[in-house]
Amino acid sequence: MDRQVKAERAWLIPYRISQKIGGFSMRTLSELSRQDVNRLMKEPEPLHRFIEMMADHFYSAVQRIKNVYAGDAALIWKGKPSSAEVVYRFLEFEGIGPKIGSMAANCLAREFKIPFSDYYSIDISADVHVRRVFSRLRLCSADVTVEQVIYKARALYPEFPGMMDLPCWEIGRSWCRPHRPACGDCYMKDLCPTAKQNENGKQDAAPG
Ligand code: SF4
Repeated sequence: MDRQVKAERAWLIPYRISQKIGGFSMRTLSELSRQDVNRLMKEPEPLHRFIEMMADHFYSAVQRIKNVYAGDAALIWKGKPSSAEVVYRFLEFEGIGPKIGSMAANCLAREFKIPFSDYYSIDISADVHVRRVFSRLRLCSADVTVEQVIYKARALYPEFPGMMDLPCWEIGRSWCRPHRPACGDCYMKDLCPTAKQNENGKQDAAPG
């Protein structure tokens, strides 16, 4: 769900659906038809800007968990697999690319402390906030690409490149805004070349 809508809205969608169907058990979910999911996503108000595509992904993900993982999503990461194996298993879901596959593995490792045998293959999810922060910290150039951020994060912390994802995103959302960054409140201000440059009255050219 986390694409082209605010993250807060995207991450609430499963909860909104659980409210509508009275729970979130796999049995309840797996009995929903494709049309049921579409209706739940659409009515009474649309939960996402891409209803049809998100409903399809939601339906097929539930069916995959039911059919491949015996209805138990935790089997995706059970038994301390490698990070590459977990990302690969997410990539097998319809609509999941490397960015979301990495983000999902990152959430499991970082937030839920799920043990993996390594964290090498959990990449940074280089959205516009992360790219802007990498650029303003002068880790990358002003016109940095997604791929450049991914490889720079791998170079900086190969053991777990995705570890830099959340702090950079939070800095980008909270202080390092496209215009007039609030450097005085940012905890990187003492290390940041752009903050020093702004103190001297110069402008930067980081990604919006
Ligand atoms: S100190 Fe300023 S320019 Fe540097 S990362 Fe923080 S908000 Fe962005």
